[in-house]
Amino acid sequence: MSGLVVIGAGQAGFQAAASLREAGYSAPITLIGDEAALPYQRPPLSKAYLAGKTDARGLLLRPESFFAEHRIAHRRGVSAVAIDRAAGRVAVSEGEGIAYDHLLLATGTRNRALPVPGADRAGVHQLRSLEDADRLKAAIEDARRIVVVGAGFIGLEFAAVCAGRGLSVTVIEAAGRVMARAVSPETSEAFRAIHAEAGVTLLFGAGVSAIEGPEGRVAAVTLADGTSLPADLVLVGIGVVPNHELAEAAGLAVRDGIAVDAFLATSDPAISAIGDCVRFPTRFAHGLPGGDRVRIESVQNAVDQGRCLAARLTGRPAAYDAVPWFWSDQGPHKLQIAGLAGPGDASVVRRTGPGFSVFRFRNGRLSAVESVDRPADHMAARRLIAASRPLTPEQAADPGFDLKALATG
Ligand code: FAD
Ligand code: NAP
Repeated sequence: MSGLVVIGAGQAGFQAAASLREAGYSAPITLIGDEAALPYQRPPLSKAYLAGKTDARGLLLRPESFFAEHRIAHRRGVSAVAIDRAAGRVAVSEGEGIAYDHLLLATGTRNRALPVPGADRAGVHQLRSLEDADRLKAAIEDARRIVVVGAGFIGLEFAAVCAGRGLSVTVIEAAGRVMARAVSPETSEAFRAIHAEAGVTLLFGAGVSAIEGPEGRVAAVTLADGTSLPADLVLVGIGVVPNHELAEAAGLAVRDGIAVDAFLATSDPAISAIGDCVRFPTRFAHGLPGGDRVRIESVQNAVDQGRCLAARLTGRPAAYDAVPWFWSDQGPHKLQIAGLAGPGDASVVRRTGPGFSVFRFRNGRLSAVESVDRPADHMAARRLIAASRPLTPEQAADPGFDLKALATG
């Protein structure tokens, strides 16, 4: 018996392997990962790890002993290079190919490259892996003037850490507001003010045209309008692209992510896919401009899809139906998002104490809730959205309305 082969030893691939063993799966499991480290959590890379509040051991999802104890063969630093579906084998960068009965693709995403001259200069960084974070952490020690390209999650979390160290930070954003794709204008404005208050300079509607400097090192970032910003460290955080090329080369259906059905199966029943790299159908995306299929980049999605897949492979199939939720720590503030909002969704602000929540409505139904320093609202929102409980915009805005009672009732 060849058992399960997992390509990608990140959050999703690890979770599937661990949940399978928990559910009593007894066949061999091989976890192929191209990174040198044991499977680790990425979120602290732009938060506690960068700020020196946790070390690399603190990032590990499990200690090394876990893998032998659970008979998970972890092939570290090994890339899967091709899938032979007819033979049921994966070709790898080192050694013999590996046979599978079932193959799981959990290849995640990679950072989008900044397409301008000079983007390869020393001092220009990205942040996806532990190796990236180690390079960045060392570089911050000598940096004074930092330019961040992209006011998304990575850019803002990094800007908050650097501002906290008293460094000069300028964030360049192509859109008109921060986290424009992920949150409402109200939440964007709150975070713009938070970062500005911390001393971060934010430039909107700004594009980078070149990264310049002598001897292959960055010294300045040139904007499309000709402005030159002096910089000794640049972080590029302009989004990600899915690692779906292996699947595509194997003839699986792919469209900005590996296409899977509600059970996370690809177009080949012997191959499933989970995590950042998949596009899947979900009722929570109903009414979004892009249709009911989404690709979600979050720990919740990676973990819950890993569990869902493990349940199917151990005889308890169920459609994936978890409520999407995210968080982002920016300085002392916590943003939590439940559900999926679209650009046209209406917003209602609820203030009942410190912080606030923005309730988003699409076609008259609650679609998402963005909570800033309001964990109780976030927990209630997850329940409300999961159960499709009817909530009106007037109730959401009314500080006297008992949200928790509706959520738990
Ligand atoms: P990954 O964790 O990226 O794992 C995929 C793995 O597959 C990688 O190790 C990759 O190298 C490997 N791989 C790819 N191709 C191959 C191949 N051919 N052969 C072998 N191995 C391969 N999410 C949140 O919800 N909250 C947060 O606060 C948050 N913070 C984040 C901070 C940072 C800095 C980053 C980078 C991400 C953050 N995320 C956060 C996103 C979250 O980490 C991802 O959504 C999650 O890791 C996705 O899990 P995954 O297993 O699908 O992909
Ligand atoms: P992101 O959140 O998608 O943000 C990228 C930002 O960069 C967007 O605002 C984007 O604007 C902007 N942008 C795109 N091209 C640009 C350009 N040429 N110049 C200037 N700005 C540009 O992606 P990210 O911050 O890079 O994060 C990468 C991954 O890590 C994602 O998967 C993310 O979910 C994950 N992550 C998550 C968290 C969290 O959940 N807390 C934290 C860190 C990282 P447009 O939208 O207009 O293109």
